[in-house]
Amino acid sequence: MAAIHLNDLAHSYMAAPSEDADYAIRRMNHVWEQGGAYALLGPSGCGKSTLLNIISGLLAPSEGEVRFDDRVVNQLPPEERNIAQVFQFPVVYDTMTVYDNLAFPLRNQRQPEHKVQSRVREIAQVLELESLLERRASNLTADEKQKVSMGRGLVRDDVAAILFDEPLTVIDPHLKWKLRRKLKQIHEQFNITMVYVTHDQLEASTFADKIAVMYEGRIVQFGTPRELFEDPAHTFVGYFIGSPGMNLARISLETQGVRLGEGDSAPLLRLPRTLLATLSERNGDLKLGIRPEFVELEAAALERSETESTEHWLSGQVTLVQDLGTYKVVDIDIGGGCVFKARIEEDAAIPHGRVRMRLPARWQRFYLDEHLLDVLPASAEVTDDVVDDKGGVA
Ligand code: ADP
Ligand code: MG
Repeated sequence: MAAIHLNDLAHSYMAAPSEDADYAIRRMNHVWEQGGAYALLGPSGCGKSTLLNIISGLLAPSEGEVRFDDRVVNQLPPEERNIAQVFQFPVVYDTMTVYDNLAFPLRNQRQPEHKVQSRVREIAQVLELESLLERRASNLTADEKQKVSMGRGLVRDDVAAILFDEPLTVIDPHLKWKLRRKLKQIHEQFNITMVYVTHDQLEASTFADKIAVMYEGRIVQFGTPRELFEDPAHTFVGYFIGSPGMNLARISLETQGVRLGEGDSAPLLRLPRTLLATLSERNGDLKLGIRPEFVELEAAALERSETESTEHWLSGQVTLVQDLGTYKVVDIDIGGGCVFKARIEEDAAIPHGRVRMRLPARWQRFYLDEHLLDVLPASAEVTDDVVDDKGGVA
């Protein structure tokens, strides 16, 4: 067992919810497959803990069902769900030894003592708690307590899934990395479904094969770290994933392309006609997105007098260069109220003054009311006056 299905699930903490904002979980359908290593990533307050508590049975959803394979478990109490949950803060019995803490879930199930012993030793070894087994939990550091807490989640061999709710919050930074590796190792060893909640994208992508990004009570995208990076399904994913996040600019359609931003200084980005035709069929708030990694800066600064955007190049003013160690982030004001960020290598020349930049068609993404539009990348076609297929200026 078991895939965890969430069917038309919704939850409100209010007695009489009336609008979307009243729901901590807005109607969703989702499947966590058996054996997956998943991260549930999102900002504080987006509903991550609520969702885990519904899966583990600590909380009854106000709408929809939770199924483990074919079986609806809404009515099952947590102890009958075969799901372990590890919380942000350690849950240990202070008066017991580490050994007894780890043994507790097994003794609860009346497992024979020899089995308890071998399992406790196995888990203690994995978590490097062996030397502490006889210590009383009250004498442990916060890190050690949290390891015991995790051990209590991992010790049962009948659990179908382990839910981790920001378990490394209290852990020392250098230990965090080590513990995350351990969890990954445990996942590979025991083939248990793991859902790991975090608000840290690095933590999510080092742990998980697939990440569910949550925003305002919804899973807005479920994909590999690469999919989230290359094709953010929602502007929130673009903005939240990546450092810095995706450049996003409101666009308005013109005959030759789109205006980025607003006002008299809004630059024109030329686009193929077929793409423009597709965009013009959509009613709503249109945005262009492109990741800072894909914005190409022309090395040489331009003459200050040049203000026109020509062909596929846009020109702008460098307003800030941040050195972030292994890379630099350059802010370029291109007019229209748009400041685009470009990420450049640490040893690249530092641009200043007026520069030209290119937004490669392959990496342009278009959003309608914050959702990714499934449109052909502009590079898939060549029109008379835009670019050649190598992306050069025509
Ligand atoms: P996260 O874990 O992502 O930080 P939560 O699931 O804790 O988010 O919270 C989601 C929303 O539900 C928040 O707006 C929060 O204030 C609200 N909420 C959480 N727990 C309760 C509760 N017991 N009663 C009322 N509202 C709650
Ligand atoms: Mg939480």
